[in-house]
Amino acid sequence: MISIAIDGPAGAGKSSICTRLAQELHYLHIDTGALYRAVGLAVLRQNKNPADPTDVLPLLQHIHIDLRFEAGEQRILLNGEDVSEAIRLPEASAAASAVSALPEVRAYLLEQQRSLARQYNVIMDGRDIGTVVLPQATIKIYLTAAPEERARRRYLELSAKPDCPPMDEILQDIIKRDEADRNRAVSPLRQAEDAVLVDTTQMDQQQVIDHLLGLCRERLGL
Ligand code: C5P
Repeated sequence: MISIAIDGPAGAGKSSICTRLAQELHYLHIDTGALYRAVGLAVLRQNKNPADPTDVLPLLQHIHIDLRFEAGEQRILLNGEDVSEAIRLPEASAAASAVSALPEVRAYLLEQQRSLARQYNVIMDGRDIGTVVLPQATIKIYLTAAPEERARRRYLELSAKPDCPPMDEILQDIIKRDEADRNRAVSPLRQAEDAVLVDTTQMDQQQVIDHLLGLCRERLGL
């Protein structure tokens, strides 16, 4: 099976870009952030503290997460309930960031990710795909952009919604999540040695897609 690992910080555009790449290459796009978000949401729903292992760990055995793919689009089920929209709320982002620092949570989700890559050709996006989850990935890409540019893009995305937070708040959230992801002891966010670095600060979305498609096709001999 072929696997394309795409890692990078929050708001680098990984998800939307991977969706498009997956459509072009006819691979399955697996957004691994959704798994951490689902665990975070499950903990919040029990009124527990996502940062406290004594709260989170006993819950893990009651958390069952399934991924389904409908016309190539990933849906995520938490104990049978489709939570694909609920996991996008800001509380779920913060909870995901907290639970993702717990080694037991990472270990719990690891096999599920590897098993998908054994069954399908995948484009898997996350923070530790090239370094930990799929160290043998066929292609590894580290996608990033300046924090201010990532905040600007997220603001544009959210600005249509009535409760859009101010740009400064979005930037602070991005900086905070980056710091937590880079500095955690287990599977911190970092570029794998054999990953191609793509800095998209000066590129628009179509340019990024064209660039990555070119890179993948060349590496895959397509
Ligand atoms: O990618 P997304 O922002 O949806 O991920 C939510 C959170 O899950 C991230 O802030 C990060 O802390 C965590 N995460 C992770 N490892 C991954 C994917 C996401 O630690 N492979």
